[in-house]
Amino acid sequence: MSPQPPATWNLGGITAHRIDEVALAPETGPWLLPDATPDVVADTPWLRPDFADEAGTLHLSSHSFALTLGSRRVLVDTGIGNGKERANPAWHDLDTDYLDRLTRAGFAPDTVDLVVLTHLHADHVGWNTRLDGAGWVPTFPNARYLSTRTEWDHWAAADMEAPRRQMFRDSVHPIRDAGLLDLVDTSAGPVEVAPGLRLLPAPGHTPGQVAVELRGDDRTALITGDAIHHPVQLARPDIGSCVDIDPALAERTRRALLASVADTGTVLLGSHFAAPTAGRVATQEGAPRPDSAFRFNSTLAQTY
Ligand SMILES: [Zn+2]
Repeated sequence: MSPQPPATWNLGGITAHRIDEVALAPETGPWLLPDATPDVVADTPWLRPDFADEAGTLHLSSHSFALTLGSRRVLVDTGIGNGKERANPAWHDLDTDYLDRLTRAGFAPDTVDLVVLTHLHADHVGWNTRLDGAGWVPTFPNARYLSTRTEWDHWAAADMEAPRRQMFRDSVHPIRDAGLLDLVDTSAGPVEVAPGLRLLPAPGHTPGQVAVELRGDDRTALITGDAIHHPVQLARPDIGSCVDIDPALAERTRRALLASVADTGTVLLGSHFAAPTAGRVATQEGAPRPDSAFRFNSTLAQTY
């Protein structure tokens, strides 16, 4: 069977492809978003069948977005990676064909110009590097890799436990040591790092996280990073993830991002949203609860 072509969204002068790594295990939802219970899912019928099943199990995905902006070739986040030693058994020592999929989508590793890291967590930096003999080397040797100054400074000052130190050693430090890492200063607000591509500060999940805005000729898109893990958080923006460093700030960021794109036609591309991944955010009229806020019209954005 020939492989499926990647999901693709054409924004006018900018094209985005979803490059799948793995579907996250069914246990991920209750761990990551403990307040997104089956009752909440039952109250939110538009989540089914794409984003949850009838039993209330949340569907979550690990993937990257590969972009062309004119002649530039950009990757947003790099997944979990192969062969990494990880405390989370679902992320440990993966062996996926992610790089083949990326290459088949037209992004051979040595042709990538820019790698944007929304934040420095293990499931967003893994393919920064690949194993070459005994050592970890940059997977994208001709790319500049971007993180933010705030993100870097946070982790540099943090008293990290052993698994996180391991992640920095195998997936972040080799990039810095090869001279490929640039730190963007987003402390004063959004920064355009390529024509049509802006990094928007999205703090809370981590202090220096960014969302990625793509401004095409025909439409605008927003890549969420982990400001929003799952579409259930559109209906219930109060629901945070267990790994948000500052939960109150993460909620303010989530609400602000959603309000900024609601009813505008902006295409929301979720960094962990299962297929179809993209949709438009609409204000929820006649919401079943006073704090129900938005819904996701994913069918509108599947085909361009
Ligand atoms: Zn993540």
